Amino acid sequence: MSILCVGPGDAPGGARGSARRPVRRRAVRRGVIPSTGHRPPPTLAGMSDNGTARRPLVAVLSGAGISTDSGIPDYRGPNGLWRRDPEAEKLVTYDFYMADPDIRRRAWRMRLESPARRARPNEAHRAIAELERSGVPVRVLTQNVDGLHQRAGLPARKVLELHGTARSTVCTGCRARAPMEEALARVGAGEEDPPCRACGGILKSATVMFGQRLDPEVVAAALAISKASDVFVAVGTSLKVQPAASLAGIAAEHGARLVVVNAEPTPYDALADEVVREPIGTALPALLRRLAA
Ligand SMILES: [Zn+2]
Repeated sequence: MSILCVGPGDAPGGARGSARRPVRRRAVRRGVIPSTGHRPPPTLAGMSDNGTARRPLVAVLSGAGISTDSGIPDYRGPNGLWRRDPEAEKLVTYDFYMADPDIRRRAWRMRLESPARRARPNEAHRAIAELERSGVPVRVLTQNVDGLHQRAGLPARKVLELHGTARSTVCTGCRARAPMEEALARVGAGEEDPPCRACGGILKSATVMFGQRLDPEVVAAALAISKASDVFVAVGTSLKVQPAASLAGIAAEHGARLVVVNAEPTPYDALADEVVREPIGTALPALLRRLAA
């Protein structure tokens, strides 16, 4: 399976998206299973005497679980709302969306009524932004399309949105982008399927729909950050959706200390230096404070 491939039954969220087996095989071969508890929890202070002037880089991979405290349900994950409702899944599947005006009208209605539209960042988003403001090099790789890391104060250039953003629209004809709220204002005013004002083309959310490829430049940047990271924190993600899941293993292979913060077990728990099961809204701020102490 290509790391760029996205599609129902494949990735993201597909049942075949699990990275469990390759990681386990690699880990067993290297004799690093189980690492949980074998090393003390990572701290940046413990890494700063590595003989280089470079400050340790913290990569945070965030999934739907970090935004549930902000009132956004998990739509896209393996057990997400879209996966449990084939009719809803059509609204976010590229071929259906492009082919059927009725699907588009329903998709615009869904966007207009989405709780994500007015969601606010929570303590976990704010803790990551505070870590960055404190001077620690931080990069966020997110599976979320809600823009809440940036709203919490993290500079946009430090956030890689693997699945795009629901805060913008993109024209499928001329590729022009515009704020989502502009299109939603038109929908609210009675345009059920607002076309691109520049070329008349079909507008969509600037998210990666099922059946669309991830942006290869974004994936390449995410890989580079994962390889360069000294600490890799996976938070609120099942680590079953590719390519995001594989980033955790790639970071660990390249020497990063791996921390998993998730309510449910993940395929990468055995590879992690630390696994945290407590609620993200309290656990992540505490973890990041300890990391930077
Ligand atoms: Zn256009």
